[in-house]
Amino acid sequence: MSYTDLNEELNIFRDSVKAFIEAEIAPYYEEWEKNKIIPKEFWLKMGENGFLACDIPEEYGGFGVDIRFNMVVAEEFAHAGYMGLVGNLEVHADICCHYLLDMGTEEQKQKYLPKMVSGEIIGAICMTEPGAGSDLQGLKTKAIENEGQWVLNGSKTFITNGQNASLYIVAARTDLNVPAAKGLSLFLVEGENPGLKRGQNLDKMGQHCADTSEIFFEDVKLTSDDILGKKNDGFIALMTELPRERLVLACGAVAHAEGALKLAVQYVNDREAFGAPLVKLQDVRFKLADMYTLIETHRVLVESYKQKLLDKRLSAVDASMAKYACTEMECKVVDMALQLFGGYGYMQEYPISRFYVDARVQKIYGGTSEIMKEIISRQVCKPENH
Ligand SMILES: Cc1cc2nc3c(=O)[nH]c(=O)nc-3n(C[C@H](O)[C@H](O)[C@H](O)COP(=O)(O)OP(=O)(O)OC[C@H]3O[C@@H](n4cnc5c(N)ncnc54)[C@H](O)[C@@H]3O)c2cc1C
Repeated sequence: MSYTDLNEELNIFRDSVKAFIEAEIAPYYEEWEKNKIIPKEFWLKMGENGFLACDIPEEYGGFGVDIRFNMVVAEEFAHAGYMGLVGNLEVHADICCHYLLDMGTEEQKQKYLPKMVSGEIIGAICMTEPGAGSDLQGLKTKAIENEGQWVLNGSKTFITNGQNASLYIVAARTDLNVPAAKGLSLFLVEGENPGLKRGQNLDKMGQHCADTSEIFFEDVKLTSDDILGKKNDGFIALMTELPRERLVLACGAVAHAEGALKLAVQYVNDREAFGAPLVKLQDVRFKLADMYTLIETHRVLVESYKQKLLDKRLSAVDASMAKYACTEMECKVVDMALQLFGGYGYMQEYPISRFYVDARVQKIYGGTSEIMKEIISRQVCKPENH
């Protein structure tokens, strides 16, 4: 079982990603996990191979293909169990690059996008703060203007690519007299800005090589040219971009579950109990059947939503359903797979244990399952929608 696409070009591209994984990731991943960082040189290799934000138009250094090519990269990394790479890649390619493409001025696009596609610049998105995660209305980071000059102060936490990034997209309040939803702006802050301080690389339960950090802004000096999008429209911009981000997370979740199933199938064919391979037990085979059914039904959902995204018909509710359903399914399938390994599944030398710890955060970042249900329920509870 593996992903196959009707589109021949996507299949050829998928094969090149698989070859890249064998040559450039598999031999080094353990070391990256141990060091809790992905080397910057690897980002350049991804860029050289055309795997970073391939959907960015050619005039900005990309290949101008559709976003399914980005998803293929994330899917193959997830399927192979390299989930730490998936989050970092998605933040860079599917969030930061797209924010610039969709909201940037021509000058901003020319300045940053080509270097983001080549991997010379790594992007980070800074929304979450110690006191504000799900509820962005609670953001405290603020930027004060004085004749076109801005001074940014505040702190962010859980920032993916926090250590490696050299471009940070920062959500800050720019009008303190109105709720955050009406007075939030996005700023482009370069890593070399003297006011930007990288905090510690946080210790996580999984996805160790994906650097996640606190970031501090101390009198960061900016100009109006560093605003991304319209002043005070940052909240709307964040909401507009979210459906794509959530669908990409859902794609990774389905592929990760499929990778776990593959490991489980191999194991139950090899492992013997009561005089025969585990796979001879009906209960084991039924579990595999359940896992496969879960994966395939969610894959159908994701594939149909990919098309909706391409047609610009993917709604916030669609994307929330996909993110919620697929990440919950992922955690369930990965747990079922680990169970089939017995005690060996709990041992770090068995890759399934990494699948387990890596999957858990998928239900949290990019909007928690509860927030997804909140968004879905707003639509489902209206009688006129039935
Ligand atoms: C590994 C990792 C990487 C991350 N990367 C980034 C990043 O790059 N950039 C970034 O900005 N952020 C990032 N985040 C932050 C992530 O998006 C937040 O952790 C997430 O949105 C939840 O916010 P919180 O942690 O403050 O939890 P809280 O918002 O405090 O939520 C705590 C609990 O309350 C529940 N809850 C909250 N509100 C409601 C509600 N209305 N109804 C029902 N339940 C509710 C939540 O679902 C959760 O179960 C990352 C987080 C992690 C762990």
